[in-house]
Amino acid sequence: MSKIDEKLQPVLDEVLRRNAGEAEFHQAVHEVLESLGRVVAKHPEYAHHALIERICEPERQIIFRVPWVDDSGQVQINRGFRVQFNSALGPYKGGIRFHPSVNLGIIKFLGFEQIFKNALTGMPIGGGKGGSDFNPRGRSDGEIMRFCQAFMTELQRHLGEYTDVPAGDIGVGGREIGYMFGQYKRLTNRYEAGVLTGKGLVYGGSRARTEATGFGLVYFVQQMLATKGATLDGKRVVVSGSGNVAIYAIEKVQQFDGRVLACSDSNGYVLDEGGIDLALLKEIKEVRRERLSDYVRMKGAGAHYIEGGSIWDVACDVALPCATQNELTGKDATTLIRNGVQVVGEGANMPSTPDAVDLFHQNGVMFAPGKAANAGGVATSALEMQQNASRDSWTFDQTEARLAQIMRGIHDNCAATADEYSAPGNYVLGANIAGFVRVAEAMQSLGVI
Ligand code: NDP
Repeated sequence: MSKIDEKLQPVLDEVLRRNAGEAEFHQAVHEVLESLGRVVAKHPEYAHHALIERICEPERQIIFRVPWVDDSGQVQINRGFRVQFNSALGPYKGGIRFHPSVNLGIIKFLGFEQIFKNALTGMPIGGGKGGSDFNPRGRSDGEIMRFCQAFMTELQRHLGEYTDVPAGDIGVGGREIGYMFGQYKRLTNRYEAGVLTGKGLVYGGSRARTEATGFGLVYFVQQMLATKGATLDGKRVVVSGSGNVAIYAIEKVQQFDGRVLACSDSNGYVLDEGGIDLALLKEIKEVRRERLSDYVRMKGAGAHYIEGGSIWDVACDVALPCATQNELTGKDATTLIRNGVQVVGEGANMPSTPDAVDLFHQNGVMFAPGKAANAGGVATSALEMQQNASRDSWTFDQTEARLAQIMRGIHDNCAATADEYSAPGNYVLGANIAGFVRVAEAMQSLGVI
């Protein structure tokens, strides 16, 4: 990581001191503060009234016990989190993650990123994030339902369509949102559709929300390529992960005639030189809920499963990390650069380590940070809230057209901001500054709160 501005170093030091041991949160704050040096040099007023210090401190952090009963009658205990980070622009908005690695530092990093991402969408949503260290893998449908109900039994008292509106994230898809919404409705006796997003279509969901993060990522990458007069047509693409974001990124790349060679899960990756068979991938992951290794068994000739291997060893023009934080290291970046990668677009949150990002910048690789490139998911969640509030339901085409327009807006805003701050082509700087300025202006107007 490079050095940050001397005026901002004490802010970072204080964050490190007060949040000891929260490595991912430190990393996320460091990256944003690194970009803000140029802003406070140009606009010192943004550093007044401890504004940046306040942005780094969550408005509220909730940690709670989640007791539930498994299929064998044993009582299980998990820990639940909701970090309500910043509500200057609107109700807290951000997903819920169920994964055994979840801890407070990870939820804080995600909530912090969410503030700037949500600001970039231009929509009236603040930043928050939540989750649990619950591991859904191998759990029966009944266990998933009982866990979701237990989790919502506590969380519901902190939510509301004007207060805090969660959505999905790793381990939380349509099924889990359904169980949580059902429990919210039952406990509150209110059909408050706008309290959760990512809902099923029959009970208040939005068309194109399932696809939105992956589709939006590819729209963003398409915009980046267009600045060089290029397109995705014929490009070799590698997508890590095989969950919600990865699947719909693959779908949109294929619609734009790109060739997706590989995708992965936490055990290994599939290489299919003929191009990933999306219908088969969806059948395995969305219908059967099985492991990616089954792809090769079902596909037969032409596909290989490389257990424990790094998907970034596959030569490609475009790399789309869509699994999890810090999954693409400096070593991986070096391999990708050696193999001629032109564009890296982050579908996941903070999937590239800081040294990987530095390497991409130093070697002229176009790089889109997650908080800009994956903002299509939360933007479409805001469109879902809009449809719920107006008791309306839009067509797929209408919703996707709004998504494409929002992604174009985010791209252009990041690019123009990078130009304005003398860093043309640096989307990290553009995203951090453009997101920060919107939040900072709102916070200045609201007084010291
Ligand atoms: P899913 O649970 O649907 O899929 C996650 C995928 O990533 C799975 O293939 C999973 O493999 C893999 N993965 C998860 N953890 C690890 C790990 N520690 N190491 C390697 N692989 C891992 O989640 P999503 O697709 O929703 O989310 C993916 C990323 O996108 C996350 O960073 C999330 O925060 C971000 N994101 C999601 C949005 C959304 O709308 N869903 C919006 C914006 C960002 P396995 O099955 O083996 O665990």
